[in-house]
Amino acid sequence: MQMEELYESALRKFRKAAVIMNLDPNVQKILEHPKRQLIVEFPVIMDNGSVEIFTGYRVQHNVTLGPAKGGIRYHKDVNLDEVKTLAFWMSFKCAVMGLPYGGAKGGVKLDPSKYSIKEIERISRRYFSEISVIVGPDRDIPAPDVNTNSDIMAWYMDTYSMHAGYSVLEVVTGKPIGLGGSEGRTEATGRGVAKVAELALQKRNQKISGSKFAIEGFGNVGQYSALILSKEKNAKIVALSDSKGGIYNPNGFDIDDVINYKKTHGTLSDYPNAKSISNDEMKTLEVDVFIPAALENSITDETAKKMKGQIIVEGANGPVTDTADEILKQRDILVVPDILANAGGVTVSYFEWVQDLQSFFWKKEQVNGTLEEMMEKSFNEIWDIKERYSTDMRTAAYILATQRIAFGIEKRGIYP
Ligand code: NAD
Repeated sequence: MQMEELYESALRKFRKAAVIMNLDPNVQKILEHPKRQLIVEFPVIMDNGSVEIFTGYRVQHNVTLGPAKGGIRYHKDVNLDEVKTLAFWMSFKCAVMGLPYGGAKGGVKLDPSKYSIKEIERISRRYFSEISVIVGPDRDIPAPDVNTNSDIMAWYMDTYSMHAGYSVLEVVTGKPIGLGGSEGRTEATGRGVAKVAELALQKRNQKISGSKFAIEGFGNVGQYSALILSKEKNAKIVALSDSKGGIYNPNGFDIDDVINYKKTHGTLSDYPNAKSISNDEMKTLEVDVFIPAALENSITDETAKKMKGQIIVEGANGPVTDTADEILKQRDILVVPDILANAGGVTVSYFEWVQDLQSFFWKKEQVNGTLEEMMEKSFNEIWDIKERYSTDMRTAAYILATQRIAFGIEKRGIYP
């Protein structure tokens, strides 16, 4: 799928909900257009003394319910359409969880593996300085996404604070613990994924203990989903993959050992006692749950026709194309949509922001317990709507989120 089509594909999923809920066409119009789209081109000095120009983006989709919130991605394929789409999804994700936020997303087009740590630091600081014209703790609060981490969040926070003249911890989330970060943030998306996987299995009268999982993508979301599923829920992770390919063992993996192997070897390939498989083969394995936790559009029509798992939990944003979504629905494969399934990250980001604003920090148990409660509440709300309208979980999630944003639009009087 061309990137230009990603936003259109996202709109098609939203429009299904708009029709079912009989949404006011004027509210629909507002939600189909992002509020602000910023493109920045900025110079950075490389280690060899030359100057390179980078392109970065920050899009704020809708801020009806509060300041904008969303991660920043570093990837060679980042472009405005992708960032716009990710920002669109963030508005609905925050509303699904009942957070007082609108949606945003950012990105810098670059292949991080080609730059030194010092170069990444200079790129990060310059990019954040450029987008500071629209971000801020009460306006737009960034966070990590693909290829960005807590070190980069600390540089962003420092850059913003240098301009402000004092430390503004609450301008970004996903920071290191000890510098305004929250307990439980790093693993929050994986924890939320594991929780909704358990709830989805219950709906299909299956227990999570002993259930078989395949996980595509072995970064923040993939690794923590695998760890929590295997260690806390006793599930069996039989297949794992990263951008270079996958591994399969029907008896299940020791995830700590796989993480250590990946740290040492930089890849999962040749992991001992496992069969090498491609990312495509992985999607056709006989498993109970498949978790896409890499990038968009990983499940196309072709894959959707061949998949054998009965449940898909979308750890990644937008991993299922809109036409594949229809095929999965016809095949009665239950899809737990991204705007719920991976909302654990933004939910604990919200807890981090609240803790920074109050300068009062929570224990890990409080973070994890509150997160799991909120995931379960939203899951059940979506399930009720799904049953009421005889629709799929994604459409039900859009209905729930849209009801909340539309309420805000109406009460604020943006649209009378
Ligand atoms: P990450 O950079 O930590 O990891 C990405 C992983 O995907 C890596 O293991 C990479 O090798 C793998 N990958 C890339 N292309 C692949 C391909 N074609 N096939 C298989 N694997 C591939 O990123 P992340 O933070 O884990 O994010 C993953 C997804 O989850 C993204 O869609 C992101 O937007 C979404 N997400 C992340 C968070 C978060 O808190 N980090 C929150 C919500 C949603």
